[in-house]
Amino acid sequence: MKIGFIGLGNMGAPMAANLAKAGHEVTGFDLVSDPPAGVARADSAAAAATGAEVVVTMLPDGAILRAVADAIHPAMAPGAVHLDCSTVDVDSARDVARRAEERGLRPMDAPVSGGVGGAQAGTLTFMAGGAPETYAIVAPLFDIMGKKAVLCGGPGAGQSAKICNNMILGATMLATCEAFALADKLGLDRQAMFDVVSTSSGYSWTMNAYCPAPGVGPQSPADNGYEPGFAAGLMLKDLRLAQAAAEATGAATPIGAAATAEYARFAEEEGGAGRDFSAVLPWLSGRSRSE
Ligand code: NAD
Repeated sequence: MKIGFIGLGNMGAPMAANLAKAGHEVTGFDLVSDPPAGVARADSAAAAATGAEVVVTMLPDGAILRAVADAIHPAMAPGAVHLDCSTVDVDSARDVARRAEERGLRPMDAPVSGGVGGAQAGTLTFMAGGAPETYAIVAPLFDIMGKKAVLCGGPGAGQSAKICNNMILGATMLATCEAFALADKLGLDRQAMFDVVSTSSGYSWTMNAYCPAPGVGPQSPADNGYEPGFAAGLMLKDLRLAQAAAEATGAATPIGAAATAEYARFAEEEGGAGRDFSAVLPWLSGRSRSE
C-alpha cells in the first residue's frame, strides 16, 4: 500500500517504521523529526498525502489535527483513508471525520494504547471509530502496528472508548496509591497488602499488573525509579479530554473530576509530569491528610 504518515514523534516514528518494514511504501512528514529508516521524506504534509491510499496522522492534539487535516484532505484522492491515531478530543475527531466525508474521503479515528514500547514492538491496541468498510481497508495495517483492534462504532467512537478507559485507569491508580498510603500509616506490610488485594475484590490492572509499590508485584515503572511507562502528563491530558467530553454531554463524573484535579496538582504544580503516573504513590505517602 502507498501510505502517508504525518507526525513522526515518539509514537509515530516506530509505527511508520513497522509499516515500512512490512513492505508498504511509506512517505513521512514531521515539522521537526527526521523519518525513521525505510520511510521516505516529504517536504510537507500535503506532499506526504498526495497519491496515498491511506494517510496516518499521529499528532499531539485536536487543534493540530484539524490544521493538518485542512492541509492534507485537498491533496488526497477520493476514496483514500484518513486514519488518525492521535489521542484528541471527541469533537475534533468527529469534525475532522465530517470534513473528510464531505470530500469523499474515508475517515477513521483509531487512538492507541500500549505506549512507546508497544509502538516499537508492534503490539499496540487500536480503538477504532468509523465505517466497517474503512475498517476492512486498514485492518491489515492494525495487524502490523498492533496486536488487537476493536471497531467501537462510528466517527469519534475510538476516542470515546479511549478516554473512558483512561478515566478508569487514572481513577483506579489514584485509589490504589491511596490505599497503599493508608496501609503504610496503619503499619500494614506492602507485600501483605498486595497479596490480599490482588486476589480480593479490590484487585485491578493497576494493582495486579502495574503495581505502584516498588519491589511488590510484577516488574513495573515503580521498580525503575518511576521512569515512564506512561507519563503523568499524558495521563492528565487524557483525564482532561474525558472531562471535556463529560462537560459537552452533561455526564456526571465526580471521580473523574477528582482524579483530574489530583493529576493536575501532581503533574503541573508539583513537577511530576515526566514521571510515571504511578509515582503518585510516593507523592501521596509523603502528604498529610490536611495537605
Ligand atoms: P510526540 O510529541 O513525540 O510526537 C508528535 C509529533 O508531531 C512531533 O514529532 C511533532 O513535531 C509532530 N507535529 C506537530 N505538529 C505537526 C504538524 N503540523 N505537522 C507535522 N508534524 C507535526 O508525541 P507522541 O508521544 O508520539 O504522541 C502522539 C499522539 O499519541 C498523542 O496524541 C498522544 O496523546 C498519543 N499517545 C501517546 C502515547 C505515549 O506513550 N507517548 C501513548 C498513547 C497515545
